[in-house]
Amino acid sequence: MTIVSINPATNETLETFSPINKDAVMAAIGSAHDAYQSWRCRSFEDRKDKLLKFAQLLRADADTYARLITQDMGKRISESHYEIEYCANIAEFYANGAERFLADQPMEVEGTDAYLHYEPLGVLLGVMPWNFPFYQVVRFATPNIMAGNTVLIKHASNVPQCAKALEDLFAECGLPAGVYTNLFIPSEFVETIVSDRRVQGVSLTGSEPAGAAVAAIAGKNLKRSVLELGGNDPFIVLEDADLESTVEQAVKGRIVNAGQSCVASKRFIVVEAVAESFLSAFKEQMAALKLGDPMDDDTTLAPLSTEQAAVKLLEQVQSTIDAGATVILGGDRPNRDGAYFNPTILTDITPEMPTYDQELFGPVASVYVVEDEAAAIKLANDSSFGLGGSVFTSNIDRGRRVAEQIETGMMFINQPTRSQAELPFGGIKHSGYGRELSHLGILEFVNKKLIHVG
Ligand code: NAP
Repeated sequence: MTIVSINPATNETLETFSPINKDAVMAAIGSAHDAYQSWRCRSFEDRKDKLLKFAQLLRADADTYARLITQDMGKRISESHYEIEYCANIAEFYANGAERFLADQPMEVEGTDAYLHYEPLGVLLGVMPWNFPFYQVVRFATPNIMAGNTVLIKHASNVPQCAKALEDLFAECGLPAGVYTNLFIPSEFVETIVSDRRVQGVSLTGSEPAGAAVAAIAGKNLKRSVLELGGNDPFIVLEDADLESTVEQAVKGRIVNAGQSCVASKRFIVVEAVAESFLSAFKEQMAALKLGDPMDDDTTLAPLSTEQAAVKLLEQVQSTIDAGATVILGGDRPNRDGAYFNPTILTDITPEMPTYDQELFGPVASVYVVEDEAAAIKLANDSSFGLGGSVFTSNIDRGRRVAEQIETGMMFINQPTRSQAELPFGGIKHSGYGRELSHLGILEFVNKKLIHVG
């Protein structure tokens, strides 16, 4: 097993890290467990000081961290900068809000004195993906650290520079040893960790197969789990949408992170009255994207995260074309080094085609033309996934009505799905369960203890 940072823009190997062995994993669990005994007793003020320092350190050296993200997984440098700033916001949100979110909750039962008292659970494992290598970790770690838990992180094996930088940052902000630990391990070690008696829960952000595997391990060991998995977000365009801004948002929603976001807009479901005008403007703007070096500010479309990711996406696209889909734009890879993929639009995709119900992780838009609003809702719901989605209309009441009928965890009106520290994030169906961010995120791994005065 190798843990290597390979720059996907050049396929150059940047740094290799050695995985640790089982004894070292056991020692790390032991130290996280020991740290928990005292960390759980620290005041919110004390924990808050550390995480505010963490946010300050992130901002102070944002250039360095942004470069590590772009080197490890290829996103555009401006997006990497945004990710670092967003992580600082999340850390501050939980540093400032945790005490309020975890305050005792009186129960409304007449004639009794009863309340919910929140307590941490212990050592948690976070299994994290590469697509937002700082954000995913911060979204899991900061609420749990504020709640008094301690965390072990198994990061994706292609973003080790980010994994190491995060561990250093959490140490530098003053967290005692064992509160945050990075583990350079293969995914086979996840079972050993989750089944250890000292570990109380696991949170995985990643693909469906990884989620199913980890949920099975958690289930077998009766451990609490949160799963944030893939998505196939619908982007519904109704006939009364403002087409100019809708098309702009469609491009933005599809190519965020070079298309490798769980909540990127992936299925464009357009009512036929505006389908032709939407498609022609969408094609023009997708075709104008500029593939290039992610470190270059002029680049508007970065490479994918790895060569393997680009190969897999090409297989998915080609199989859809072979099955009869129409290529409106792209459908292939450019002739250049690096994990690049041309901006692509496919249409005439039918339910029998292999990718109809698969997540396409790259700059590939599937456009579906439907008769009317009812058909759009039906198609949007014909998916194994249920993460986010959006609806575009000039009638906000209509937008709300449609949003309420879509089977996802999040719906956005006149904007693509997005995340913000104050707003809950998560899905239903095969997109997983549980919520991160907002006050809900900090309640996933706490004991909601009832105290009843007789
Ligand atoms: P992935 O291949 O599933 O990997 C995610 C993490 O799980 C990595 O650390 C990986 O380790 C580990 N892993 C893989 N198989 C495992 C197994 N059988 N047992 C235990 N751990 C396992 O996903 P990815 O390619 O990194 O990320 C892309 C996916 O994540 C997409 O489907 C995307 O939609 C989803 N995602 C979801 C959200 C959300 O919030 N819902 C956010 C971002 C991404 P190795 O790297 O060592 O294999």
